[in-house]
Amino acid sequence: MAASKIIVVGSMNMDLVTSTNRIPAVGETVIGDAFHTTPGGKGANQAMAAARLGAEVTMVGAVGDDAFGEAAMNNLKQQGIGTDAIRIVEGCSTGIAAITVSDGDNSIIVVPGANHSITPAVIEAQEEVLKNSDMLLVQLEIPLDSVIRAVQLAKKHNIRTILNPAPIQPLPMELLEMVDYLTPNEHEQTLLFASTDGSVKQLERLKEKCIVTKGSKGVMLYQNGEEILIPGVEVEAVDTTGAGDSFNGALAFALCQGKSVEEACRFANVVGAISVTKFGAQAGMPTMEEVEGFLR
Ligand code: ADP
Repeated sequence: MAASKIIVVGSMNMDLVTSTNRIPAVGETVIGDAFHTTPGGKGANQAMAAARLGAEVTMVGAVGDDAFGEAAMNNLKQQGIGTDAIRIVEGCSTGIAAITVSDGDNSIIVVPGANHSITPAVIEAQEEVLKNSDMLLVQLEIPLDSVIRAVQLAKKHNIRTILNPAPIQPLPMELLEMVDYLTPNEHEQTLLFASTDGSVKQLERLKEKCIVTKGSKGVMLYQNGEEILIPGVEVEAVDTTGAGDSFNGALAFALCQGKSVEEACRFANVVGAISVTKFGAQAGMPTMEEVEGFLR
């Protein structure tokens, strides 16, 4: 298997998950049922998904100088992900998501913390690593300027780029024109096109770059004006958190392996499906062996 060198520029968080039978009202205290911490952040999740499959992954990101940062970093290290380009920011908190889960409902507060310290200059300092990669994978949980800088540098060195436009926000046409693949889910695709101004030609080009994930319905891609629907793989879904992240990591890996876009989407569609059969965003991400076992 050829090495797939993937550089992920993105967020690292610690998810703090509380389960309770009722989400408290303002001013109220309730006793919860359970609490656990689990590493997350779209950047770290996607890095993990690609590494599990066998990709050589370098993470460019930032954590605070606290226990969550150390745990988030160690989690990536244990999977063999390169962590030299992760900054530890003094006096800053690691990004967290405080998640309250109650009977299928949830409420979430995200504090970006150190993720917001990833400036364009931080990205520029990693140009050598980027230059030696086969693929850049980015999302939108770090400052947009830095996402743009990473994509500009990738373009300069002819490195292919996947932009997972999540969480969705208005994006400049300059960025959208530079990336090779866009991976919105259905909701993000609608908002992406609603918030983007461009000529008919530009929007048509944009559509051709889109690989739209549709949950249990699978994946839609566009080639020469034709829609290609890859149907979802039937599985028993227990937790869909991080399905999109599994999909993106797998897509990057498969493209680096030389698969065509359609083949890579078929592969990532299987990986995304396997990931929802287990609890936890990262815990459900399969190894290559598991994928092969599933397909047998
Ligand atoms: P996101 O998590 O970003 O909202 P999706 O829900 O579209 O992304 O899921 C990403 C991909 O994961 C889907 O395109 C599909 O391949 C797979 N997937 C997600 N949910 C399911 C499911 N219930 N059954 C089978 N595959 C799924």
